[in-house]
Amino acid sequence: MSETSVSQATLLYRLQTFDLGIAQRLARLQEIETVLGQDETVRKARQRFEAADSALTPWQARVRDLDLEIKSLTQKIQQTDRSLYSGKITNPKELQDMQEDIASLKRRQSQLEDELLEAMMKSEEGQAAVAEAQRQLNDAQAAWAGSQVDLLDEKQRLEKEVADWQAQRQQAAAAVDPASLSRYEALRPKKRGQAVALLKGDSCVMCGVEQTSRIAQQVRQGTQLVYCESCGRILATP
Ligand SMILES: [Zn+2]
Repeated sequence: MSETSVSQATLLYRLQTFDLGIAQRLARLQEIETVLGQDETVRKARQRFEAADSALTPWQARVRDLDLEIKSLTQKIQQTDRSLYSGKITNPKELQDMQEDIASLKRRQSQLEDELLEAMMKSEEGQAAVAEAQRQLNDAQAAWAGSQVDLLDEKQRLEKEVADWQAQRQQAAAAVDPASLSRYEALRPKKRGQAVALLKGDSCVMCGVEQTSRIAQQVRQGTQLVYCESCGRILATP
């Protein structure tokens, strides 16, 4: 079958294949544009990391404070101890007071050591949580960088395909007579891009409605544009 004997409807159907393919790729390109530059997962992972870090900081400060306090207390106990056994103080009341002081300082020391132990445990837990959050943040960033590369590859591929398809579309459109083309263009937006439907048996593929044998025959003859009785699309044979 030579190209001139192909019906206008068939030519329009071929044109529509390009138009649909181009529209599909343009829609995906728009999606990619939206996704590129967004990093929701990374943003959330960073938030969790910052929260874990903030929770850890006061415990680390508490460990340092308690450590200092215990050291100064230990010094005080040693000093009092030395004075007590220096032999310089002989007053029994004074000696008893010093012994009581030492006992009281030691009780305080023991209390602070318990607190330090708890703060160290909290600090260690906090450090583990920060390390885990850091690991998750790194993973999210790596995945994001990877997805960016994949998306950029896909974008390039789609842009090339769209350019190729548009060139072929132009050729397909040039093969259609202007009157048929303008009827197709007018119908396209009303049918969500599907202005042409194939006839399968005697039925319209798009809406499934069986056509009268006269209409089906006209479609097969291909001498004029024939519309589906039900959905109004141009009927074509492949
Ligand atoms: Zn139909």
